[in-house]
Amino acid sequence: MKEEEDERIKQLLSENEEFAAAISQIKEDNQLAISKMSHEIRNMITLVKSSLQIIETRHPEVKDFALWEQIGEDLNTTNEMLMQYSTYNNLLKVNKKSGDIITLIENTAESFRPQCEQRGIGLFVSIAAEARKYASHYEFDKIRMKQALINLIKNAMEACSRNDEITVSLSLDHEKLADSPSLLLQVSDNGYSINKEIMKKLFEPYFTTKDTGTGLGLSIVKKIIYSHGGDISVESDDAVTKVSCYLPTKQHA
Ligand code: ADP
Ligand code: MG
Repeated sequence: MKEEEDERIKQLLSENEEFAAAISQIKEDNQLAISKMSHEIRNMITLVKSSLQIIETRHPEVKDFALWEQIGEDLNTTNEMLMQYSTYNNLLKVNKKSGDIITLIENTAESFRPQCEQRGIGLFVSIAAEARKYASHYEFDKIRMKQALINLIKNAMEACSRNDEITVSLSLDHEKLADSPSLLLQVSDNGYSINKEIMKKLFEPYFTTKDTGTGLGLSIVKKIIYSHGGDISVESDDAVTKVSCYLPTKQHA
C-alpha cells in the first residue's frame, strides 16, 4: 500500500513541475521546523538536567528514590529521540574526506563496550586484512558514518539479551559491484530475529516495534550508506540478524 502511494505521488510530481517545486519547498520548510523544534526542546532538556544535578548535590537523599535515576534515563532517551528526528532531516549534507574507516569502526564499537559488558553481551570486532588497503584511505563522512554505525550497533544491542553476541566486521566483497570490490561493513547479532512482516517495513521512516523507538535508525543508516554510493541489506533467521553495508572502493567525486 505504502509503495503504491509512493508511486502515485512520484507520478503526480513528475506531471507538474510547478507543483513539484512547491511540494519540495513545503518539505524543506517542514524539515527546518522539525530541526529547530528538536533543537529548542533539547536545550530545555539540558536545563532540566542541570536543575536535577543541583537538587542532587544539595539533597543527596533524592538518590534513594528509585524513580530519581529513571528521570535521568528518560531525559537521555528523549534527547536521543530528538537527535534522531533532527538528524533524519539534515542528512543531505555530506562532507567526505579521506580517512581511516577502520579506526572509526574500532573506536565506535569500543564506545559500546561498557554498555555491552553491563548487559552481559559479547562484543567483537573483526577486520579482514585484505580490506585494509582500501579502508585506511577511504573517502567518507566521518560523522555520518559514525552515526550509521552507532544506529546499527544500538539496534543489535537492543535485540540482544544476556550472553548474546554482537560482531562488527569489515571485509572485502567482490560480487556486489562488477568493476571493483566493495568494503563490506556488517553488524550481526544473535538476539531476537526479524520476521517477514517486519522485514518489509524495516527501512520505512518512523516504523518501530519498540516502545520508545523513533523508527528512524535504519532510515538514517540507509540514507548515509546511499550518500556514499553504497547499498544496504538485512538478513535474519533464528540464528543471526545481519545488516550488510556495501561501500564502493571506486569512488566518484
Ligand atoms: P528503532 O530502533 O527506533 O525502532 P530502527 O529504524 O533502528 O528504529 O529499526 C526499526 C525496527 O527494525 C526496530 O524497531 C526493530 O523491530 C527492527 N530491527 C532493527 N535492527 C534489528 C536487529 N538487529 N534485530 C532485530 N530487529 C531489528
Ligand atoms: Mg534503532
